[in-house]
Amino acid sequence: LIGLLVGVILAGCSMEGRFSKSDLGIIRTNPEEILKIYTIETEEETTVLRNISTDLSEKVLFGKDYSLLAERMIRTVSDTAVGGVGLAAPQIGINRRIVVVQRFDKEGEPFEAYPNITIVDHSSETKKGAEGCLSVPGERYDVNRFTSVRISYFDINKKEMVTETIDGFTAVIFQHEVDHLDGIIYTDRVLM
Ligand code: ZN
Repeated sequence: LIGLLVGVILAGCSMEGRFSKSDLGIIRTNPEEILKIYTIETEEETTVLRNISTDLSEKVLFGKDYSLLAERMIRTVSDTAVGGVGLAAPQIGINRRIVVVQRFDKEGEPFEAYPNITIVDHSSETKKGAEGCLSVPGERYDVNRFTSVRISYFDINKKEMVTETIDGFTAVIFQHEVDHLDGIIYTDRVLM
């Protein structure tokens, strides 16, 4: 019995921080195409959008499935037919803590991927602004967001967790996308 329990616990641990079979199916299928975006229009996709996402291990983040996923997420959100400014992994059916954000605060306004991201601090000041979401087609509502946030994420180049302070519209995008990782859709925060 003890042997069996140890086996079960080890099996549980070995899955921690790895892509599931379903995740890998999404990542590896038709890699030249853009990813399908999940919306609140179906119950099945809403369930994925409402799930809490989990971190990936460092080993996985240095692997080719992660780099393909990050590249495909960037290609999807920046596709002219999609025209988004940010995308979170649950929006393409993967409950892992990865977001892609267009950095309007950087030269050339590049799209960048942020794995294992959390918001660790924020300004006391908030500002109201209109938002939309690729998972809530055709809608726009006003939401209050912090004017500045401090994010923590794994930097692939530096090979370590880093923190960074983000201001302005880019900070709004980070708040919207990180909400997705906690199962929150911006319509939950709409001002009445
Ligand atoms: Zn969204």
